[in-house]
Amino acid sequence: MIQLSDRINSMEESATIAMSRKSRELKAAGKDIISLSLGEPDFFTPQFIKDAALEAMNKNFTMYTPVSGYDDLRESISLKFKRDNGLEYSKDQIVVSTGAKQSIANVVLSIVNPGDEVIIPAPYWVSYLEIVKVAEGTSVVIPATIDADFKISATQLRNAITPKTRMMIFSTPCNPTGTVYTKHELYDLAQVLKDFPQIIVISDEIYEHINFSGKHESLAQFPEVYNQVVTVNGLSKAWAMTGWRLGYIGAPKEIASACDKMQGQFTSATCSITQRAAIAAMHADPAILKDMINAFHRRRDLVLDKLNEMEGVQSNVPEGAFYVFPDISHFFGKSYKEWTIENANDLCLYLLDEALVALVTGEAFGDPNCIRISYAASEETLLDAMSRIKDALAKLS
Ligand code: PMP
Ligand code: GLU
Repeated sequence: MIQLSDRINSMEESATIAMSRKSRELKAAGKDIISLSLGEPDFFTPQFIKDAALEAMNKNFTMYTPVSGYDDLRESISLKFKRDNGLEYSKDQIVVSTGAKQSIANVVLSIVNPGDEVIIPAPYWVSYLEIVKVAEGTSVVIPATIDADFKISATQLRNAITPKTRMMIFSTPCNPTGTVYTKHELYDLAQVLKDFPQIIVISDEIYEHINFSGKHESLAQFPEVYNQVVTVNGLSKAWAMTGWRLGYIGAPKEIASACDKMQGQFTSATCSITQRAAIAAMHADPAILKDMINAFHRRRDLVLDKLNEMEGVQSNVPEGAFYVFPDISHFFGKSYKEWTIENANDLCLYLLDEALVALVTGEAFGDPNCIRISYAASEETLLDAMSRIKDALAKLS
């Protein structure tokens, strides 16, 4: 028998990926599954970006690139940070990676020593905890409740900090809750963080453009914490480029160099063709994303309306990303046929079996009372899914 490492044995499989794999298998077996499990836009990559990729191939941009990305790509990311976020990051503060997932892993592995504590507000994105585990750090989870719109307060943050705290990781807009921190709320967090300059914060802003509440706010805008913040972003969400694999950071120079060294040994640079296409995306005016954002906004309202019609389902109003994260704990202890619902995992499996709708359990995101619905699907599909969910929930008693 092959002996695997303790590291991989202790790692959970990504619940988002596991659920989408499961629904793909069921679909292949002929079941009429609606999958709202994966955080993936259902739009196609804009044509001008595809054209830039074709041109790149034809011009033979097909070789290794600098590990952190082409110079002109990093220059265009620097301009994007200035234009959209008011952030000054020079080229040597930027590292381009194979997706924001790798960007986050690079930073965690560059900062966290075994036993260091990493503060993670819950609900959190599935991979944060597992990446911290790989670095042998200790996650310190701060629970944020639905009544607080799933936001942590400055006091909660201060109370979680110990002499061992080295890092904090959070996302705004948030996956899985859709919560968007306001400038004022980020300022309050910054006032705590500035007293602990040894703490590095990963501010995951990959959903920045999918924001219905107005302007995106970055934590790094506050000069008192600028040197502690790594701003993570990428192309997957706003530009519908999940398969192209490009994420990036803006970071203090020492951290950028560390990440360059890390990926120089692990993966080298991301795909040369993707990088050339990314330059086109960086130079584009984000105003062209308006139609897509409006579509997400309409879908959010549709899903919320339908959830509000379901007895026992409680939801906040997510201001960004493309997820709703309702509390479904009302159904715990209820049964139908051979099913007894003890927790969110059971409810997800029940909905997959009875409603043929694939969602993701809140347990994977650090909130066992909730389930995540990704509304990156057409309005017609969403209506069908919500009606199936409603019928299946109504059967539980
Ligand atoms: N951060 C968050 C909050 C995400 O939802 C995702 C999902 N893809 C990522 C990072 C990783 O994105 P990428 O596809 O760029 O690796
Ligand atoms: N981030 C997306 C999600 O949360 C895609 C899946 C993944 O990368 O884990 O569903």
